[in-house]
Amino acid sequence: MHRLKMRNWQERQAGAMHEMSLCEGIVQILEEQATQQNFSRVRTVWLEVGAFSGVEKEAMLFSFDVVCRGTLAEGAKLEIIELPARAWCMQCAETVEIEERYDPCPKCGGYQLQVVEGEELRIRELEVD
Ligand SMILES: [Zn+2]
Repeated sequence: MHRLKMRNWQERQAGAMHEMSLCEGIVQILEEQATQQNFSRVRTVWLEVGAFSGVEKEAMLFSFDVVCRGTLAEGAKLEIIELPARAWCMQCAETVEIEERYDPCPKCGGYQLQVVEGEELRIRELEVD
C-alpha cells in the first residue's frame, strides 16, 4: 500500500473550476439570447479569447461540454478564437503585439507599455436553430 500525492490533481481541478464558471456565464448569455432572438438550439459558439484572459483552451472545451448538458446548447461545438495581446508603447507612440504581460516593446525594447487588448472573453458568433 502506498500514498499518492494529489497536489497536481487539485490544481487541475481548481483551474477547471475557473473555466466552469466562465462556461456557466456563457450558457446564461445563450439562454437570454434565445429568448430575445427566438431560437431554441445552439449548434456552434465562436468565442474570442485574449492571450491574457487566463483561460486554458482544453479546460474550456471540457467545461463547456459539461456545463451545456441539459441546456439549449447540449452537444454544441465551441470554437475558440485566440487573440494576441496588444499594448500601447509610450516611446513608439503606437500599438504593438506582445506575448507575455511584462514583455518589453518588440520595437524599441522599452517597458513603458500599457496593455490595451488581450483580456477579452466574448462571443463573436452563434450558429443556432
Ligand atoms: Zn516601443
